Amino acid sequence: MALTEFGLISRFFAGKPNYRSSTHLGIGDDCALLKVPDGYQLAVTTDTMVENVHFLRGTDPRQLGFKLLAVNLSDLAAMGAEPVAVSLALTMPEVDENWLSEFSTGFQALAEQFKVDLIGGDTTTGPLTLTVQAMGLIPAGEALLRSGARPGDLIFMTGSLGDAGLGLKMAQHQSQIDCEKALQRFNCPLPRVQEGIALRTVASSCIDISDGLSADLGHILELSSVGARLDFDQIPLSAGVHQYLNETGDWSFPLCAGDDYELCFTVAPEKAELLNFACTQIGIIESEPGIRISRHGLIDTLKVKGFEHFSK
Ligand code: ADP
Ligand code: MG
Repeated sequence: MALTEFGLISRFFAGKPNYRSSTHLGIGDDCALLKVPDGYQLAVTTDTMVENVHFLRGTDPRQLGFKLLAVNLSDLAAMGAEPVAVSLALTMPEVDENWLSEFSTGFQALAEQFKVDLIGGDTTTGPLTLTVQAMGLIPAGEALLRSGARPGDLIFMTGSLGDAGLGLKMAQHQSQIDCEKALQRFNCPLPRVQEGIALRTVASSCIDISDGLSADLGHILELSSVGARLDFDQIPLSAGVHQYLNETGDWSFPLCAGDDYELCFTVAPEKAELLNFACTQIGIIESEPGIRISRHGLIDTLKVKGFEHFSK
């Protein structure tokens, strides 16, 4: 007989010991209960993935479980929060035990890596839709906001740009490039949790690159009422992305491609020496609005945009 709602919750999601002392009560009651230690704030974020919008039918469920949690932990990282707990709302057309087993394995693998407790959720029937709410702790007043960038601040990013975008092209058979790293980055991005925590009291603003650098940096610029000059030749690109640019001539591709889940952040020049992890300076904040990009000595105004729902 097929599993019922409660059967599948207990088989795939409940019953694991909690990692965190902040988890007072986990799965099983009407609500979970969290303790927020004195002097801390709770950061809360939600991200949804819908079949055929965020992922294609037939996507490997283990990668899907991993990525669903990763994109939520990336939002916490972008605020400098330490992830402690998540809830999971699952809407599925039917109970597919093999799919659930793989999905929960991928999800739990990342939860275990960052010691995040799954404290509750909801399970319903309908078109395949996966939602996580993630909660993290930040010392009060130390959250990394989008609104803090000031003219003269240096712009940095972690990792390299455009790999996930290339991975998507490969997955859709729109590129013949053979780059395992790009596929891995697209399917199983690793959220920059430690880097986000290390940026507390150092960065003046921070965002995670989910919709493309130009769009996401654009959010910082808008909320901080500033502009930016980017140095294209400083932006870290993998060998696969270099090959893609050479083959297509589309040099703006890494600036608009989404799903990288790297951090983009600004730091006042006198604090730059406090950065204690691998990252690259890619530009500088200016008072004039907009993004200007210098490339091989020429300066261009960037008009490209990232992905937006409801845009035509
Ligand atoms: P209620 O009807 O009161 O909302 P449910 O019957 O939906 O509660 O869920 C029972 C318990 O299982 C609750 O603690 C809920 O948080 C948890 N739960 C439901 N679905 C999931 C899920 N997909 N993952 C983790 N916990 C879940
Ligand atoms: Mg319910």
